[in-house]
Amino acid sequence: MKRIDNHLPTADLQRLDAAHHMHPFTNGAELNEKGARVITRANGVMLTDSEGVEILDAMAGLWCVNLGYGRKELADVAAAQMLQLPFYNTFFQTTHPPVVALAARIAELAPGDLNHTFFAGSGSEANDTNIRLVRQYWALMGKPDKKVIISRKNAYHGSSMGSGSLGGMAGMHAQGGMPIPDITHIDQPYWYSEGGDMDPAEFGLERARQLEAEIERLGEGNVAAFIAEPIQGAGAVIIPPETYWPEIQRICDEHEILLIADEVICGFGRTGNWFGSQTLGIRPDIMTIAKGLSSGYQPIGGSVISDPIAEVINSDEFAHGYTYSGHPVACAVALENLRLLDEDGIIDHARDVAGPYLAQKWAELGNHPLVGEARIIGMMAALELTPNKATRAPFKADAGTVGLRCRERCFANGVIMRHVRDTMIISPPLIMTKDDIDMLFERAVKSLDETLAGLKSDGLMA
Ligand SMILES: *Cc1c(COP(=O)(O)O)cnc(C)c1O
Repeated sequence: MKRIDNHLPTADLQRLDAAHHMHPFTNGAELNEKGARVITRANGVMLTDSEGVEILDAMAGLWCVNLGYGRKELADVAAAQMLQLPFYNTFFQTTHPPVVALAARIAELAPGDLNHTFFAGSGSEANDTNIRLVRQYWALMGKPDKKVIISRKNAYHGSSMGSGSLGGMAGMHAQGGMPIPDITHIDQPYWYSEGGDMDPAEFGLERARQLEAEIERLGEGNVAAFIAEPIQGAGAVIIPPETYWPEIQRICDEHEILLIADEVICGFGRTGNWFGSQTLGIRPDIMTIAKGLSSGYQPIGGSVISDPIAEVINSDEFAHGYTYSGHPVACAVALENLRLLDEDGIIDHARDVAGPYLAQKWAELGNHPLVGEARIIGMMAALELTPNKATRAPFKADAGTVGLRCRERCFANGVIMRHVRDTMIISPPLIMTKDDIDMLFERAVKSLDETLAGLKSDGLMA
């Protein structure tokens, strides 16, 4: 394999990065002060930085490299497609083989009558499409007042004005005039942090029934859709109580509103099935897809739409589209990724081998003195850090301080975990072997031990 090893020295890269590159979701001044870590290559589940240090990537990039790094098949397909047809649009009554093949393959894999995909360049764009799509659908159905989309606090649906408004991230809404009108948010099914003394099953029902109350408050004639991630990812891998989704499904069935499952993280094997909706028994009208669709090798997303909705939307011109909707190279790479996930048995491996073994190891981490809850579904998991396991109390430091400390210990010990406030989360490549999982476990224990020692000496475990 051709390698690009002749990069500038780390300090020069960091200096130029600080001078010219603006990072997403980052305090720029703070980062520029210390310099960004430079990642130069990756293979399998391991990253290598510009100093040659190897790091286990337990986040699969940003929840996306389901297939793992370094798959030559994807590079070959991209090169061949670039040479044959690097770009053509699909606006002007034209199409091309990769977009046709990918749309047909997604229709095969997607549950129920979800047989039509409108492509986008990312999950954010796909959710923006969904906002316009559900409103246009109801307008064409003669119900133009059905515009409001109900979402949830602490949901993540992307970072554009539309998708960021659908999301329920308070920190994002505090900047730049979000949410846009006609989007409302109900509470999330986050038992560990908000369930108090309630039994989880009862709490799940209570949170689901907020949807019914919100539909009644707004008037069913004004509500277009409910959107939710099957499992909240960026929110902190929040696995709802078992009572939650069946009740949500009942409410959506009994009211005339559409259900959008944002499968950007849960899709393509993350929960042990092709889609999180299958794992959790959800019957969506629309699914948002991105991330694992291409294992992150190319930027691509989409809205997967049911037969009846597609029929209505197709009855008029839908005045919407992106230059890169159905980009041929992205589609060809995504199709090859889906082939490998299937033919290499990677989804099966996640469900039958890696997932169960990771679950066993994760349960052991639950015994660590710093961990109040260890939860996992498929290949996504969270550790709630707490000074008091019994009460699930937060730390006496600003929320996120302890999580950040733990993440820094993880980095130092050669494993990438992310922190959301004081919750540590992982979403590793699905290809992880038992040895990889053992390595993850050892590095996680060491990092937790070191974090605990630091907290004790700083008086934060009281
Ligand atoms: C990442 C994410 C998005 C946004 O996808 P981008 O490709 O970053 O725009 C949307 N929904 C969920 C659930 C996500 O995790």
